[in-house]
Amino acid sequence: MIEVQRTLLEWYARDARSFPWRYVNPEPYHVLISEYMLQQTQTQRIAERFPVFIEQYPNVQILSETTKQEIIMAWQGLGYNNRALRLRECAITIVEKFGGIIPDTYDELISLPGIGPYTASAIMAFAHGKDMAIIDVNIFRIYARLMGISDPADAKKSMIASFADQAYPRGKASEWHQALMDVGARWCKAKHALCNECPLHIHCKSAFQVNMQTKKKSRKEPSHRDVPNRIWRGRTIECLRNRPLYAESKELLLSAIIEHPVNEQDIHWFDQTILPALVKDSLIEYDMHTHIVSIAS
Ligand code: SF4
Repeated sequence: MIEVQRTLLEWYARDARSFPWRYVNPEPYHVLISEYMLQQTQTQRIAERFPVFIEQYPNVQILSETTKQEIIMAWQGLGYNNRALRLRECAITIVEKFGGIIPDTYDELISLPGIGPYTASAIMAFAHGKDMAIIDVNIFRIYARLMGISDPADAKKSMIASFADQAYPRGKASEWHQALMDVGARWCKAKHALCNECPLHIHCKSAFQVNMQTKKKSRKEPSHRDVPNRIWRGRTIECLRNRPLYAESKELLLSAIIEHPVNEQDIHWFDQTILPALVKDSLIEYDMHTHIVSIAS
């Protein structure tokens, strides 16, 4: 493993991707924000939005004082808007329970709203420099392939967890895992692998053997007008960002989202699916009597 570590870290020192949250000694607050944003949003989009967000919310205290409406507005372009509300709750908890200091133990981090095992480990390693194995979907895939399992669906979680614990160089958990993330983003992708360009190919048991052509059918997401409901929920919030209160009727909001004349089926679907989901996530408020829809206050 020492040779793999040397190869990867030497490559990373030469050719790491540069992001606004990647510094030698990053602020724990910046790592917290970037890891929240990185849950399900493309890195390039975060690279654009991160500096704007940090300018608006330069520290955890200021973030904890924001309103729901303000943070939903500030989350523009990042998708999965309920993460904005979880982040606000997280900041409030950090201020109330931890005096405004980002915790540096795994158990404290994982007790915070919106932080799961991956994010807690990432904050431990990237923000606090702790020795900690990190496994996200990309790192899982790379470890599986390094071990000779070209399709990560065939790898057992326990096997990868044990490999992950032994793989990273002690004292360099941050660089190691960020380097793996770069390998996953650039070469070792889910559907194909560019092994000839990958710095790990001389050590990898799956090098030049990854062929995902015949793999599983993708699950069909619940949709309307051939667009997944998750996109419609995002578009609803986007419309409300431009105009936070639709007082006249929800049909007006619906036609702004669909960008077509709406019919009975659209209204039924919006009533039964999109509005309840957004209310449940506390992203909007909806008055069933007046039909006023507004962004959560
Ligand atoms: S050599 Fe190929 S399969 Fe192995 S880690 Fe690199 S890209 Fe992935």
